[in-house]
Amino acid sequence: MRVCKFGGAALRDGEAFQSVRSIVQAEPSRQVIVPSAPGKRDSRDEKITDLLYACQSAASDGRAFSHLFDRIASRYREIAAALGLPAPDEDLRQVYAGLREGASPAWAASRGEWLSGRLLGAYLGFPTLDAAQVIRFDGQGRLDTAETLALLRKTLRGPCVLPGFYGADGTGTVYTLARGGSDVTAALAAAACNADVYENWKDVRGVFSADPDLVPDALYIPRMTYREQRALSLLGGQVLSEDAVAPVRQAGVPLNIRSFLSPGHPGTWIGPAFSGEKRSEAIAVTGQTKLTLYRLERQDGGEDLAQATLKAGLAPYRMAADADALCLTLKKDEALPQALHRLYERAWQQEHAAAVSVIGEGLSRMDGAARFAAALSAAGIGVLSLHMPPEGLYITALIPGDRFAPAINAVYDAFIRR
Ligand code: ASP
Repeated sequence: MRVCKFGGAALRDGEAFQSVRSIVQAEPSRQVIVPSAPGKRDSRDEKITDLLYACQSAASDGRAFSHLFDRIASRYREIAAALGLPAPDEDLRQVYAGLREGASPAWAASRGEWLSGRLLGAYLGFPTLDAAQVIRFDGQGRLDTAETLALLRKTLRGPCVLPGFYGADGTGTVYTLARGGSDVTAALAAAACNADVYENWKDVRGVFSADPDLVPDALYIPRMTYREQRALSLLGGQVLSEDAVAPVRQAGVPLNIRSFLSPGHPGTWIGPAFSGEKRSEAIAVTGQTKLTLYRLERQDGGEDLAQATLKAGLAPYRMAADADALCLTLKKDEALPQALHRLYERAWQQEHAAAVSVIGEGLSRMDGAARFAAALSAAGIGVLSLHMPPEGLYITALIPGDRFAPAINAVYDAFIRR
């Protein structure tokens, strides 16, 4: 069985729903279909989810919102008409009534996926589940992964549409996942039914070997391991959020990122290590800008500083304690916590830094660190700090921020464009 997630761009209008149906029907094992709410049709358009939040906010301030709701209703009516389905008037009436009666922001936003799922189910001839019955939250609005997996295991037995992005606690109060959360719903479904594949259908052909804005001839990566995907996502190239991958990684279910614009293209496969394969190349170059580097010195070592950093709830981009100091790299929206100021004796700081990283299981089988340093040096880029963990899944250099684009290209030349 395959679990397929279609995002807002893949469901933006009637024609897009038609392509989704062709994709689903082309492969009978595509049985669990997780839709988002319709997204933008062009850059000036509105996402249904944003319109629903706007309606809820107007309703809760006592402002009129029917003009906003009409925009939502006409999108769904147009899709239904294009698919030859009856207009979803009763569903829309329920949503409107809920908003008037003081619905929460989460309930309001969840109706985008609910309406989209009801239409897609009718169009595919699959039953549509209510995610409130199977995606379980605790009373504080935190996802209860264990209970959700147990409920999904019992429920996912054959073809169905499972709307993404929302669920409910045991009393039926609706909660949403983070924005883009349909990716998480589908990952949970794929893990629960131990799917053969989790297909995530996007408007790109897969994961790229570098940001195409910086490296115009970057290529899509045909396959990568979960470890590589995680390193890529943590070091800069957001592919899918960690929450959207962790369930399938833990269950060992392969993830296939595909393009609904080119359904024949195999996309990027992400899985456990590929058996018998000993690759000896890097797969991607990525990075991060707007970093601040700190070196906090303390006579009796950096350890307490490390503990204080974690206690303060910081998630540093990099952190390393050595004999007499803690080296911290923070993203621009993170400041050094007050609690730390009392603990060090001397601080060195550099703002506007950037990180450039190369990623690949194969780095441990090549003289990667030397090649990486040589590439940066040949491009005249001064390295502020350099790191390769044992087993060499990645190599990262911290560099002055104004050298970011040349550094990405130099490393790309040395490892990928060869
Ligand atoms: N519709 C929601 C959003 O716009 C969730 C999703 O697309 O996955 O964030």
